[in-house]
Formats: sequence, structure tokens, C-alpha cells
Amino acid sequence: MSNIDQYAVFGHPINHSKSPRIHTLFAEQTKQTLDYTSQDVPAELFTSAIAEFFKQGGKGLNCTVPLKELAWDRADTLSERAQFSKAVNTLVLQEDGTLLGDNTDGLGLVADLTVNHGISLNNKRILILGAGGASRGIIGPLMEKSPVGIVIANRTVEKAIALSHEFSQLGEIAGCAYEALKGFSFDLILNATSASLTGELPPLTDNLLAENGCCYDLAYGNQPTAFVKWGVAQGAIKSLDGLGMLVEQAAEAFFVWRGVRPETKEIIKLLNSERA
Ligand code: NDP
Repeated sequence: MSNIDQYAVFGHPINHSKSPRIHTLFAEQTKQTLDYTSQDVPAELFTSAIAEFFKQGGKGLNCTVPLKELAWDRADTLSERAQFSKAVNTLVLQEDGTLLGDNTDGLGLVADLTVNHGISLNNKRILILGAGGASRGIIGPLMEKSPVGIVIANRTVEKAIALSHEFSQLGEIAGCAYEALKGFSFDLILNATSASLTGELPPLTDNLLAENGCCYDLAYGNQPTAFVKWGVAQGAIKSLDGLGMLVEQAAEAFFVWRGVRPETKEIIKLLNSERA
């Protein structure tokens, strides 16, 4: 067991993750002493990997694709935002040895869209592609910014419809299949599928993006993702990937773990320069 506080991100695949780099930069900036590593953990090994990590002195964990719903199940207690989203991206070891589950994804996305990129959500028509853990985490915080409404499209349509029902108390939220989007247009299209991780694009038709609309891929990479390229081809005024969201959600997780809030702007700038 190490003397240094241990943190990690679990996911599958995980080799693309920039979380270790980001948390190491946060630790340097805020003068905190900690280790943050990544571990490739497929869903079937989640229970044993998590038990081992905390047994070895782990203090906190991030969970990414495809583990967020499993992490929600595993948490002993939940923050309000995690309870509502039924997805957990941050686990915190409590003093009594129990695990608190939190979700910082929605806050991270909204901060990146509105603060870093000046994209207003008020009165906008939003389309979310995908109905997995990431979608669960972002619907609540997006609805707080008073859009006209949200449509969720998913390959497995039942999941999109179930998600829309679960969140219906927040306002206008509908779930549908990709084919049902024909004839509709949106001011903001968010790709919350994991298609970009394998270089794929959800089955999108032309004319889905309204004039002056924006596209945002929650995934990120050193090169523009297939969805970011699609947004550019559709004439988006901004077609962005999720690097800024990643840094913002990580900053919130760091704050939950360490009680210190890192500055994000310089770190986003640095990571952007490294992939240029
Ligand atoms: P999940 O595994 O929980 O869900 C994946 C979703 O993607 C499902 O809706 C699935 O559809 C859909 N999907 C997968 N492949 C395809 C495809 N080829 N075409 C269409 N739909 C597809 O993943 P998460 O929700 O946790 O993560 C989704 C994405 O968001 C990932 O790329 C992840 O990296 C990114 N993310 C980024 C964050 C950031 O900070 N930037 C934070 C959180 C997530 P179906 O239900 O039919 O299987």
C-alpha cells in the first residue's frame, strides 16, 4: 500500500484517456500530493477491480465507458445529481469506508459549452445522440439552462424512450430512433454515443442542424472525431469535441476529492496545444 493518495480512472477501452495527465496537472497546480493512474476494466471485472483498488488504499475513482451505470449500482450513497442521473463518474471513499457516488459530467459539459465557448442554451432545441451513462449525466444540467427541449435519439430506441420518460418531469424531453429525426432540425447536436471511439458516426441524415447551429462530440481525440468533421460539413458555426468537458468534469471531481478547485483555462489551452 502506498503512502501517496491513490486515484484512478477505470474504463474499457481506456488507452485514449487523458484523465491521468489532467489530474497530474491539477495536482501540480494546486500543490497536492497524489497519484492518478488508468486501468482497463471491462464491465465483467468491475466489481473485483473496484474492491481491489480500495483495498490497496485507493481514495477516489473515476468511471468511464461502459461503467457509469455499474458505478451507480455499486455506490453506497449518492449525491443528489448522481441519484437523479442514475450514472456515476466519480466515487469517493468516505471516512467510514463506504463509497459516495457523484456525477460531474453534466456540470463539465455545461461549463465548457456556456463559459468556455459562449454557447447559450436558453431557448435552444437540443438533440442528444445516445442513451448511455453520459446522456444520463447531462440531461438534468442541460435542462437547468432552459432550452426549448431535448430529443434523445438512440440506436436501441427503447433506451431513448425510457430515458425520456425518466426525465420527463424536467420539461420537454422525447426519445426516438434515428430514422424518426427526419424533417426536424436542432440548434445544438450533442454526440453522447461511444461511436467516435471506434471512428464511427451515428446514422445521421443531412439537414438536422439548424442555421447557426453548433455540434459537440463528448468524445475527444488528437484528431477531429468523425462527428466533429460531420458538424463542419453540415455548416456548424462551432463543431467541438469533448476535451474541454473532460477537463471541467475532472476539475469538479478533483474538488470533490481534495476540496481545492483547480483553474481549468490554462490546462485546456495546454492540452489543445499538445494535440495541435
Ligand atoms: P455507454 O457505453 O454508456 O453508452 C454508449 C452509447 O453509444 C449507447 O447509447 C450506444 O447505443 C451508443 N453507440 C455506441 N456505438 C454506436 C454506434 N456505432 N452508432 C450509434 N450509437 C452507438 O457510454 P457513455 O454514455 O458512458 O459514453 C458515451 C461517450 O461520451 C463516449 O465517447 C465517452 O468517451 C464520452 N464521454 C466524454 C466525457 C467527457 O468528459 N468529454 C464524459 C463522459 C462521456 P446502444 O444503446 O444502442 O448500444
